[in-house]
Amino acid sequence: MDFSIIESNVRGFLGSLKGMGIDSYAFNDKNVPTLQELRRSVMSCRKCALADTRKNVVFGEGNSRARLIFVGEAPGEDEDIQGKPFVGRAGKLLYQLIDRIGLRRNEVYICNVLKCRPPNNRDPETAEIAACKDHLLMQIRLVAPKVICTLGRHAYNTLFGADERITRVRGTLKDYNGTTLLPTYHPSFLLRNQDKIKEVWEDMERLKQLLKA
Ligand code: URA
Repeated sequence: MDFSIIESNVRGFLGSLKGMGIDSYAFNDKNVPTLQELRRSVMSCRKCALADTRKNVVFGEGNSRARLIFVGEAPGEDEDIQGKPFVGRAGKLLYQLIDRIGLRRNEVYICNVLKCRPPNNRDPETAEIAACKDHLLMQIRLVAPKVICTLGRHAYNTLFGADERITRVRGTLKDYNGTTLLPTYHPSFLLRNQDKIKEVWEDMERLKQLLKA
């Protein structure tokens, strides 16, 4: 018997209940928090040393029932100050990409692998990712999107426990626990490599089609 088909049908059914606003059937496990409860606990997280240097925790924001979730890397300076994801230059570009899919900001959900800014915007460290990963996994589980779009290598590698180069996986559809996932370039990388924009437009078109299907 192919259990993956049964699991995917059950997920689809629970997802559609959730889409109708019937959350209690979909998630009635006492150990599973609501998104607001998760947010509250993450806001006071001290599981790694970034808690000492952050100004604000950047939990993530958007539509808690979004069909599309974007996962970035970590807050930068602007995000750390404002406590919101993608509010700087990279964020402006991300919102242009969302616009290209034909969606509005309040129709998607946006978060990062790390919820706190690494000093001087350095790369996330392995221990920081390990400390923060459960927050991200629960966030994705609770939003239960139809499609996940990872931005850059850290988001992709964190979800798959991989060590891939983004140039190798970008634009290739993946299955993340029954949810379609499309890796693309990080908007900050795009700002530095504007010749890559065509590939990302293709990815946005792909997202549009996936959401329509
Ligand atoms: N880069 C990210 O990965 N996330 C943000 O929130 C901002 C910039």
